[in-house]
Amino acid sequence: MIEKKADLEIIDIKPRGYCKGVIRALSIVKRTREENPETTISILGKIVHNRYITEALNYYRIKTIDIPGLTREELLQYVDQGILILSAHGTGKRIVEIAKAKGLTVIDAVCNDVVSTHDIIGHALAQDTQIVFIGKNMHPETEAILQNFPRAHLITQESDINILNLDSTKNILITNQTTLSILEIQSIIQAILDKYPQAEVNNEICGATRVRQEAIIKQSKLDALVVVGDPNSNNTAMLAQIGFEHGIKHVVRIESIEDLMLDGLKQGWRVGITSGASTPTYLTEMVSHYLKNVDLTNPQRKPEIDLTKILE
Ligand code: SF4
Repeated sequence: MIEKKADLEIIDIKPRGYCKGVIRALSIVKRTREENPETTISILGKIVHNRYITEALNYYRIKTIDIPGLTREELLQYVDQGILILSAHGTGKRIVEIAKAKGLTVIDAVCNDVVSTHDIIGHALAQDTQIVFIGKNMHPETEAILQNFPRAHLITQESDINILNLDSTKNILITNQTTLSILEIQSIIQAILDKYPQAEVNNEICGATRVRQEAIIKQSKLDALVVVGDPNSNNTAMLAQIGFEHGIKHVVRIESIEDLMLDGLKQGWRVGITSGASTPTYLTEMVSHYLKNVDLTNPQRKPEIDLTKILE
């Protein structure tokens, strides 16, 4: 019997998926539940940006306190007892003080790479250096930085540099959120340097974000790129953006196999598959396996997602 040639050539782009910060945060949450089987456990904001992880944690009676548009401080009003876990993105010191004053046991699952950015900024400010922080507005990492260091100047896009008014006689340090695009940040940094040539640069894009983006740039002749990850995950968004900037014409962002559409895919295409640092491996593998075997003219039924496998 002649075996039918696969409709698509699937390239599993590696590395992809969970980074060390996410693995650590999830193991802290799981261990906290194991050691405290009866205690109320809440997470302030999403532990990492992935809806399926939030749902899986709910299954283990771990409640995520996350209301769109509210700050961490506002969310804290909804927690009155038990253990409070702080997310991998970092949390302002004032939040920790308020939580402790409320009698909550606070466990911080912040990523060490985020801590490093806070340390660099704190050290520079102590030397009277002015800080320019490139980050995404309303992202929890940026929120925590601005809360701990209100003197930092936030730049969310190149046009913000027009209103940047720094003292040119003093030192300036440019630094950034850990999960930005390695391509986009270059032009923003250059635009700041054009205005303040004496500024020093400490690019804090973390290793995990960097290697996942570089892995896409290293690919050649991809007809399409499928990026699996949460709509609110910045590093997932940046993977898709890198795909576009790298010239891949068909870039698709999906949360899981549930919203995978086959319409734009064509017979014989080379399709890369990657996923954000907060995307469960199980979800990415499911998409990869399905596309490797898909019949584009008569697509198979998609498999159901099993929440008990999300945290594995
Ligand atoms: S993406 Fe980077 S900064 Fe964020 S949790 Fe992972 S390793 Fe840490």
